[in-house]
Amino acid sequence: MQMSKLSTMRRKIQWPMIVWMTTVHALAIVGVFYLNIVNLGLIAGLYFVTCCLGICIGYHRLLTHRSFKTHKFMRRFFATCGSLALQGGPSAWVGDHRMHHVASDTEQDPHNAKKGFWYSHIGWIFFEHRPENRGAIAKLCRDIRSDWYMRMLDMGLIQIGMQVILGAGLLYLFGWGGVFCGIFLRLIVSYHFTWFVNSLCHMWGYTTYKTKSLARNNWVVGVLTWGEGWHNNHHANESRVKAGMRWWEVDVSYYVIKVLSWFGLTWGLRV
Ligand SMILES: [Zn+2]
Ligand SMILES: [Zn+2]
Repeated sequence: MQMSKLSTMRRKIQWPMIVWMTTVHALAIVGVFYLNIVNLGLIAGLYFVTCCLGICIGYHRLLTHRSFKTHKFMRRFFATCGSLALQGGPSAWVGDHRMHHVASDTEQDPHNAKKGFWYSHIGWIFFEHRPENRGAIAKLCRDIRSDWYMRMLDMGLIQIGMQVILGAGLLYLFGWGGVFCGIFLRLIVSYHFTWFVNSLCHMWGYTTYKTKSLARNNWVVGVLTWGEGWHNNHHANESRVKAGMRWWEVDVSYYVIKVLSWFGLTWGLRV
């Protein structure tokens, strides 16, 4: 079948994902009523662990782009933190993101920004992959699937199980406020901030480099996402460990990787 025909085929709606996202958003609203200084600290702390260590450093700069090297136990630690962000297992995340770089802002891009803000922000996760993309995305993450530990993290039951264990710990230590803020409100904050990279950073901001994508540097997203908002810089050279290139382009993820290198925990930083 021709590519053009395939790409216009109806894509199945992922109803479980719609139910999940609706539920988490509703429970996050409950969390707003529990907000206090302790629970705000909890959200910030868990957002750092799951999104800075997990998604930005682990899933993105290490697993997807191999922009630095580390010990096997650190690789697995970062991936475990990433799976606690409930943005999917490492293989799916890496496959989608590598495809985003291969085919930025085209029909094959999983979150093609040319389809508008809402599609690239959240809409894309409600549809299954384009038929012509499925095999390609699976191939793009074969290296991640070669590690049994990553395959384990890919399992939805494991991801939910770890979140339940975390929630039980928060309930014991902080009560229900800890659960609603530390799990649901934190997930919503981290979801939208991460999705801003796919939506806002392909629409609004400035460009330093000429790239084949619409990627922009957006300082609001840069600050909110531990440095991932310097997205034009990133698309210009995706394997570079740094996203912030000017002194004022704050890139917390890079600073953490750099500090860890002083202790021999990371090395081979590609700059
Ligand atoms: Zn991008
Ligand atoms: Zn990337």
